Formats: sequence, C-alpha cells, structure tokens
Amino acid sequence: MIQVRHLYKEFDGTAVLNDVNAEIQKGEIISVIGPSGTGKSTFLRCLNLLERPTGGKIQVDGVDILAPGADVSKLRMKMGMVFQQFNLFPHLTVIENIMLAPRSLLKQSPADARKRARELLELVGLINKENALPGELSGGQQQRVAIARALAMNPEIILFDEPTSALDPTMVNEVLSVIRNLAKTGITMVIVTHEMRFARDVSTRVFYMDEGVIYEAGTPAGIFDAPKRAKTAAFIHQQGLFVSELAKKEFDLYHFQAEVELFAERCRLPARQLHYLQLLSEELLMNILFPRTGRIRVEIGISEETGKVDFHAIWSGNPENPLDADDEPGEMARIIIRKRCSEIDFFINSEKLNELHLEMQQ
Ligand code: ADP
Ligand code: MG
Repeated sequence: MIQVRHLYKEFDGTAVLNDVNAEIQKGEIISVIGPSGTGKSTFLRCLNLLERPTGGKIQVDGVDILAPGADVSKLRMKMGMVFQQFNLFPHLTVIENIMLAPRSLLKQSPADARKRARELLELVGLINKENALPGELSGGQQQRVAIARALAMNPEIILFDEPTSALDPTMVNEVLSVIRNLAKTGITMVIVTHEMRFARDVSTRVFYMDEGVIYEAGTPAGIFDAPKRAKTAAFIHQQGLFVSELAKKEFDLYHFQAEVELFAERCRLPARQLHYLQLLSEELLMNILFPRTGRIRVEIGISEETGKVDFHAIWSGNPENPLDADDEPGEMARIIIRKRCSEIDFFINSEKLNELHLEMQQ
C-alpha cells in the first residue's frame, strides 16, 4: 500500500528525516513511537505531502506521489489525517464539519453527505451531538468528530498524529476505543502515539523512530518485550511498561517477582511500593486467577511523573469479576487486594477477554 525509499527531509539545511525506508501493507496498523523531535510528525506529513520531501521515493498504491504532475488531491482523498489539535471549524455544527469535504471535494448531494455523516457519528458514538457546535463538546468528543470527518472521505489509509496528546487524561480512552474499533475494519492506519499499552494491543507492527530514521521495526511483542537494539530498549524501559504472558504450567513465581523487581528499579519505584506490588501480584495470580485460568497476560504500568502503578491482568474465561466471587480460598487475597488498591475495575476488553485493572494506592 505504501512504499517509502530513502526518504530525506531537511529544514533549513538540517536533516530531520535521514534515509527512512518502510513498506506498509494494506490493512496494517502501524504504530510509530519514539522520543519527541525525532521526525515522527514529519514522516507522516511527508506521506500525505503536507511536507515536500527533500529526497527519496514514496509510492502509494503503486503510484509515485513525488513524480512531477502527480495528482496530489487524489492522494489526499485516499489518505485521511487526524491531528493532535482537532481543527474543527468552530462556527459549523458537528454534522456540517463532517459534510464539508464530501460536499465540496466528492460533490456528494446534501442528502447523501448527511446520511453518511450520520452513519459515522453513530460509529463514533456521537449521533446525539450532530447539531452541536464544536465548542460545546469535550476534547475527547471533538477528537471523535475529527475522526468521523476524516472517515467521511472514505480514505483507504488514515494517519493519526498523536491523537490523544492534547486531551485530558480522562478522555484518552474514549478516543483510543474508537481507533481500536476502526482497526478492525481493515482500513490501513499509521498512528504516532505515546500510548504504549494501546500501541502494543492495536498494532500489527511498530516502528521505533530515533534521530530521523526508523531505528527498529518489529511486531509489538518484539519491540516491547524483546527490543533488539540499545536505544529501542532504553526507550521502552523508560516508558514504564512491563508485559508478561504467563502460563500456569510453567509459571515460576520467583522468576516473575524478580522480573517485576528489575522493572520497578528501572522506574525508580520506592521499595515500599515494590513490596506491595509484589504482594498484590502474588495474591492475585496464585489465589485468584490461576485457579480460574491457564494463561494470563500481565501488564504493569508505572508512571515516571506521578509514580502511579497500574496493574492489568487479562485472561479468557468466565466473564465475571473474580474479586466479586466468595470462594473460601480467595477470601484473604481479596481482602489484601482491596486494601492496597485505590481503584479496581473489571471489564470485558475489546478483544472479548476479561480484564482486571488495579490501581495501587500510593
Ligand atoms: P516528532 O513528531 O518526532 O516530535 P517532528 O517531525 O515534529 O518530530 O520534528 C522533527 C524535527 O524537525 C524537530 O527538530 C523540529 O524542530 C523540526 N521541524 C519540524 N517541522 C519543522 C518546520 N516546519 N520547520 C523547521 N523545523 C521543523
Ligand atoms: Mg510530532
């Protein structure tokens, strides 16, 4: 679908993209991660020619988009983009914002454009806001409208440039959920994001960018659990995400706790918090979850800024909150977990798996 060869981009004589090479297949979901200032936005903007590359070659669907006389507006229709700032027209209603480009560029009739816009508002869960002005919506809702607006052109590819970075933390998930659902429709997506858990779940491949190149590309498991190159590993560890797939048959609690300890040290988690994290892991895994399932995915997030610890356990099986059960053997474990956590959520996640989210008390 997209082929990038030896892509260079300079600003005022300084190379910002320095030989970027990539191939993206139809239907792939690519997450682009990496430190800021390494050219992630510039890479996306070159793909849809918001920036003119200084050198190299980009083919989209076999068409050389940098060739003299290439049809830029046709390319733009094929490729939607969603920005950090939603850029909705403040004086137009939600539905008018969505209908604008299909009306003027695709020459859709008002009735057709409205019908499609309403379908898309349904998709992003905002049909009841069609006549609101953007200023009357929350940031999360505005970004969902911006996604609907990009989809209204029926693009084959959609580019997201940090779609949740400008949002209040409470609104991040509603936008990520919309993108997750979109990922299942087969549309090709390239997403620049700092949401590592999301990148890990949603992507077919991950590009780690550093200093103007794709320094390492791989599967989500490859990049997050076993990065091959030094800078990738350093970056991933800094993100404060620990992921482990546990199988009951070969589970070794001491080994697991040692890994958690290593991770917590890298995140500079205070010793007392580490102790509680290990206590919580042991109780939850040994007394609550392994009696119920053979496989568990554990994801632990430690925020470097706030020191907040989030523990996620994901497994398949009975869709019931195991912390609400009243079996005798789990009783002590449940008391300990409740005492140590400031927040406990159980839900069925987008992969139809059970997910338990514990936020540890600080
Ligand atoms: P990222 O998205 O990874 O944070 P960017 O692609 O935004 O990185 O920027 C990469 C580098 O290019 C930065 O050093 C930035 O200052 C520079 N840059 C980006 N856009 C421009 C521009 N229009 N003019 C000059 N320098 C730019
Ligand atoms: Mg950027």
